[in-house]
Amino acid sequence: MSLLLRNIDELHLADGEGRVIAGAHVAIEDGRIADISAVPIPEERFDEVIDLTGHIVTPGLVNTHHHFFQSLTRAIPAVQRGHLLDWLLKLYPLWAGMTPEHLAAATEAACAELLLSGTTATSDHLYLVPRADPAYAEAEIAAASALGIRLNLVRGSMTGMEADLGAQLDALLGERAGGVLDDEDAVLADMERLARRHHDASPDSKLTVAFGPTTVTYHNLDFMRRVAALAGDYACGLHTHFHPRPDERETCRGLDASPVDVLAEIGWLRPGTWIAHGTRLDAYDIGRLVENGVALAHCPRMILRLGARVPPLHDYIAAGMRVGIGVDGAASNDCGSMVNEIRIAALLHRVASGGGEVPPEGWLLPAEVLRLATADGAQVIGRPDLGQIRVGGPADIAAFDLRGVGYAGARTDLLSGFILAGSETRAAYTVVGGQIRVRGGELVDYDEQAIRERLDRATAQLIGQLSDKLGWDYRNFEGGRSDVVLG
Ligand SMILES: [Zn+2]
Repeated sequence: MSLLLRNIDELHLADGEGRVIAGAHVAIEDGRIADISAVPIPEERFDEVIDLTGHIVTPGLVNTHHHFFQSLTRAIPAVQRGHLLDWLLKLYPLWAGMTPEHLAAATEAACAELLLSGTTATSDHLYLVPRADPAYAEAEIAAASALGIRLNLVRGSMTGMEADLGAQLDALLGERAGGVLDDEDAVLADMERLARRHHDASPDSKLTVAFGPTTVTYHNLDFMRRVAALAGDYACGLHTHFHPRPDERETCRGLDASPVDVLAEIGWLRPGTWIAHGTRLDAYDIGRLVENGVALAHCPRMILRLGARVPPLHDYIAAGMRVGIGVDGAASNDCGSMVNEIRIAALLHRVASGGGEVPPEGWLLPAEVLRLATADGAQVIGRPDLGQIRVGGPADIAAFDLRGVGYAGARTDLLSGFILAGSETRAAYTVVGGQIRVRGGELVDYDEQAIRERLDRATAQLIGQLSDKLGWDYRNFEGGRSDVVLG
């Protein structure tokens, strides 16, 4: 299969120099970029030629943090007004009822939304696997693979729960919180199984595997050590949520260390580790993370959704931290569009510390934000081969149509217009390894309505069975509040 993209208004390579080619043409052969040219390329030898007049083309976007399974529970009224413990208490019972078929439906919807927003590679932090049943990860891999997106599957785990949540859920759902609380040996066995069977570190890989307890298990550091050792054995990445709350810092003081020192002690402070959020890092944390090559998945919309602290992203980057962008799961971001996410990332850091205190010279520019969402994000999830447009590299490409009225008057700099002015989040074309997965703003080979209806049915089933069992009304906005604050 050969493909020529011609007459691209602007081609952004996202290379180290931030090069842009106006009036560009890109030749794709056998899944790779064969030629990039500012003058026309003869068309006869190509199987297909697509004219991209009026479009901007970037490397395919790379999503560094997600929880596909949470797409089962988007925009649930009962969890709209609660902080961490409230929404966990309400959502875990729903997720505990998830079947592998439900997860496949959620994966389809999440990957479809990512592809439709120009994303060609995504990480997914699958930390909730009822009874450690291998059928879940296999269902997810099959669904993502069929859609054609590159997947970095982080086999997560949950061996403990916050505060007295475990006891409350045991009372509601039965032993081990209805089967969602993990047995350590079973998790480690499934991690190893996935690494052996699926981790493909080759340059064209469609599937890599990483390991990631959902949070640092300060109560059980030996488990974290065992996970780190396993990652070392299989050259897999390590990932976890890390935004040390005051209670976690207090726990660490009892260990005579800071949270980031604990990461070092358990073998997690190393290249190949990336943390999600990092909303409460101090200067010491940042220094230690940077000097040890630990990267960050920044999920700006999650911060808004949960009312969390806004991190000074520009300071992290200036300190040398590698940062990628992530949409996070639907429990803390009801939207899964990467375009939406990069638009918020371009703005949110400007109000770090409450606003008015971030000097404008530190604000990120559109080209810097694009780089976070492409080349840097690819490095974050252990795929340095992705995230750039270069001759010989994989043909992972997104094209966005800027001919709509939302971009009127915003063509002085097309990338600025795309990120700062636009409201349309659909890619016109998304190409993964030379294969067109989105064409003319529509999924190829998939009926978008069928994907939505399948997930709608799964969600209705989960909510219906829980409402029958516990009498909870998930349509009720009075979700309650708690004193525990995330972020
Ligand atoms: Zn998350």
